[in-house]
Amino acid sequence: MRKINVFDTTLRDGEQSAGVNLNALEKLEIAKQLERLGVDIMEAGFPAASKGDFQGVKNIADTVRNVSVTGLARANMKDIDAAWDALKGGADPRLHVFLATSPIHMTHKLKKTPDEVVETAVEAVKYAKKFFPKVQWSAEDACRSDRSFLAKIIKEVIDAGASVINIPDTVGYRSPQEYGELFTYLRNNVPNIEGVDLSAHCHNDLGMAVANSLAAIECGATQIEGTINGIGERAGNAAIEEVAVALRIRNDFYQAETGLKLDEIKRTSNLVSKLTGMAVPGNKAVVGANAFAHESGIHQDGVLKEKTTYEIISPQLIGVQSNSLVLGKHSGRHAFRDKVKDLGFELDEAKINEAFADFKDLADKKKQVTEDDLFALLTDIQTDEFVDKYEIHSIQVQYGTANIPTATISIEKPDGTMIQQAGTGSGSVEAIYNTLEAMIPGTLQLQDYRINSVGGGRDALAEVHVRVMYNGVESNGRGTAQDVLESSAIAYLNAVNRVLARESYQVNKKAHV
Ligand SMILES: [Zn+2]
Repeated sequence: MRKINVFDTTLRDGEQSAGVNLNALEKLEIAKQLERLGVDIMEAGFPAASKGDFQGVKNIADTVRNVSVTGLARANMKDIDAAWDALKGGADPRLHVFLATSPIHMTHKLKKTPDEVVETAVEAVKYAKKFFPKVQWSAEDACRSDRSFLAKIIKEVIDAGASVINIPDTVGYRSPQEYGELFTYLRNNVPNIEGVDLSAHCHNDLGMAVANSLAAIECGATQIEGTINGIGERAGNAAIEEVAVALRIRNDFYQAETGLKLDEIKRTSNLVSKLTGMAVPGNKAVVGANAFAHESGIHQDGVLKEKTTYEIISPQLIGVQSNSLVLGKHSGRHAFRDKVKDLGFELDEAKINEAFADFKDLADKKKQVTEDDLFALLTDIQTDEFVDKYEIHSIQVQYGTANIPTATISIEKPDGTMIQQAGTGSGSVEAIYNTLEAMIPGTLQLQDYRINSVGGGRDALAEVHVRVMYNGVESNGRGTAQDVLESSAIAYLNAVNRVLARESYQVNKKAHV
């Protein structure tokens, strides 16, 4: 079996999904889970983009020990310096430096001749090699580049010291056959390619990202790049969990495998979906809620008699849990602490105490506290930024089919003072949002609102995701509570608090490979 390295870019390309805006603790929680999943390399961000990005990458490089942490840089000294400052504390630091090689990008974006592009790429790799033990070079928009030029520039950057070469399908344009042939061409036409890792980075604009990644593996790629749940710019990136499970289930065909712990897939998918607010469609391959549901009578009958009649992947393979009752009202602190550990959380003493108090509150209201409930509760506590912020103190809503819905809300302001106000709307949630908008200085507008239940049952927790525009900055927000109106209010303030926590965050955030 050939070993395929997994390069996860959930925290860089994935975080560039429209409306996704993770705080530093959320990024760290995802990074720790990616380490548990067993990815080989994780791209933690783009350090030169903003102070927030720099700090996010540095936190992860300083914390994660069993994964090579990388960061993105354009082909200039300033970006490479910022990346080294952020990554040098890592266990196995590497740089991901890129430059566009297609005529469209070289002419219109870079305004450089092909020779100048080669020179810039070589200089950047040589400079990076002064600091980084490992340098990956990416040919942005490789798939619309001239093949012989691509072979020439790759030869030069390998001579300059790059040991991983990434061939991204930046715009998601190629078919699997074409993409595979490009890898074969480069292996046959770059004289110094032997011993260098070849990496596939696919986008899903035509729905072919996973198929293209697998085609690249067939044609000699030794590394695949992608994101959890396939999130990312536009239609997203290759879904890592799909590639890894395809290699496992069809190892007879591909003769290749990743080092991923596949039974961590479900937890990773849940965490990324919850923190990014990007819902996983029910019918999505591998991790969708219906991926193991058999609806037709003939299929159900077959599966009951013999699972493999219609089931090629077992839910256990990817770590689907039964979500049984885990703890009740009378469970003690000791049992709670054990369960927290079982669920994969490492909480310090202060957070354990906070979580235990929240659990007791929930157990009073709800008869059964399930794993899904605890996962939601613990994730919220683990990723709560300790910054001055707006917090709900109390909410009262009057609703009747014959009345105008009215909300009365008390909130604590970032400076610690309390304010109270009432407002109306055409529905209960709108009344709450109108009132909050009147209480918070600046312009605040709701752009998207979604509500999910955590697990099943009539007493399930409500999880609300919102996207807002606050003072011209787009932000997402998340709130979980037993009542839908309370979770709606929490999510709205959460979105505002994220903007306040890093006013400069959106500045120059985007770079793309
Ligand atoms: Zn990309």
